[in-house]
Amino acid sequence: MDITTALGALESLSSSTSTSSSGPLNALIDNQFNRAKSRIIAGEDPKLVIAELQKSVKNCKKDVEKGLKSWYGALGNVGKEVDKAFPPNLAAISEAYSDPPLFSDPEAIRALDEVILESLGRRGIWEAVEAMEEETSLSYPSSKRSLSTELQYILTSISSSDLQPALNWCESNSSFLSSPPHPSSLPYYLHKAVFRSIKNRQEAIVYARKNMMQYVPTQPVLKLITSCLYDPTTPPLHPPKSTNGDIAMSNQEAEEKERKDELEELRKMFQNEFCRRYQWSKEDPLEVVTELGSRGGTLDKIEKARRVMGEHLGNVRKWDELPMEVPLPTSRRYHSVFVCPVSKEQATESNPPKMLTCGHVIAEESFNRLLKGGRRSIKCPYCPMETSQSVAQRLYF
Ligand SMILES: [Zn+2]
Repeated sequence: MDITTALGALESLSSSTSTSSSGPLNALIDNQFNRAKSRIIAGEDPKLVIAELQKSVKNCKKDVEKGLKSWYGALGNVGKEVDKAFPPNLAAISEAYSDPPLFSDPEAIRALDEVILESLGRRGIWEAVEAMEEETSLSYPSSKRSLSTELQYILTSISSSDLQPALNWCESNSSFLSSPPHPSSLPYYLHKAVFRSIKNRQEAIVYARKNMMQYVPTQPVLKLITSCLYDPTTPPLHPPKSTNGDIAMSNQEAEEKERKDELEELRKMFQNEFCRRYQWSKEDPLEVVTELGSRGGTLDKIEKARRVMGEHLGNVRKWDELPMEVPLPTSRRYHSVFVCPVSKEQATESNPPKMLTCGHVIAEESFNRLLKGGRRSIKCPYCPMETSQSVAQRLYF
C-alpha cells in the first residue's frame, strides 16, 4: 500500500453508508424512533414497541462500531504510510547533508532557480514568477508565458465541464495531432465526452454524426453510438417511478463521480498533448524530483543507508552512487534506450524494439532471426507464447 491507496481507501469510506453522516445512526433516529412513537400514539402495546426498538438500537450500535473500526483502520494506514515515506527527522538530515552544502556552486544555484521558475510558470502562478524574476537574474520567456496561460485556461475549462476551448485547440492543431508516428486520440475522447453529456439521444446521435465519423477507422465510434440506446445512465424514455430514494441518490452520486473522473482523465490527456506539441517535458521536473524524494521513498532510503552504512561509506555527499536500489513506481521508470535482451544490442531506427503478444520486447533483427525458415510466427524467447509476424508491434521510446 502507498499513500495514494491509503488515502483513496479513507476517502471511499467517507462516502460509504456505514460510516457517513447519513449512516445507521441517522436511519435509527429518523425511522425507528419516529415509527415507534407513532405506533405508541396509535395505541399499540408500548412494551412490545419498546422491546423492538431496543433490538434496533442494538443492531445500530453494532453497525456504528463496525463502521468506526474500518474508519480507524484506514486512518491508521494513512499515518503509517506517511511515516514510511518521509524520513523521521528532516532537520537532522539537512545538517548531515550540508557538507559540502547542497547548493553552493553557482551552477547548482542557477539550476535550482531555473527549475523553480519553470515550475511556477507551468502552473501559471504569475505573481510568484515575477517575484522570482526580481530576486534572480532569470526571466520566464514571454512566449512560454502565453502558452502556459492558454494551457491553464483550457485545463480549468475542462474541469468545469466546458470542453469547447480544448476542442478548438485540437482543431487548430489538427495536423500535428493526426500525424504519425503518434496520432493522438485526444480529439476523439473530447468528442466522446461531449456526446455522453448530451442527455437527448437524438441530439447526441446528430452530434456524433457531425463530429465523430472521421474516427470510425481507429475508434469504436459506431459501438459508442449504438450503446447509448442501451446505456442505463442516459435517461430512458419512460423513467420508472423511483421506489427507493437512497438507490436513486447513490446512482446520481456514482454518475457524478464517473463524470469527474472522466474530466480528470481528459485534463491529463490534454496536458500531455499540449506538452508534446510544444516540446515541454511531460511533467513538471520539480514535481517529479520532489515526488521521487518523498513519496517515492528515495530520501528515506538514502537516509537509512547513511545511518546504517555511513561509517563504512564515508560522507554521504561524496557518494558516487547509491549503495542500494530504490524501487521506484513504474510510472517513474524512464527508459530512453532499449537494449535487446536477446542480441544485447541497443535498438536503433533501423532495428527498432518490437513487442510480442505476451508483452515481452525484443529488437526487430532478433525477431527476424527467430522467423527464419519461412515461419510466420515465433515463440517468445522468454515465455511459451507464440507471436505471429503481423501482430508484433513496433515500440517508441
Ligand atoms: Zn514472452
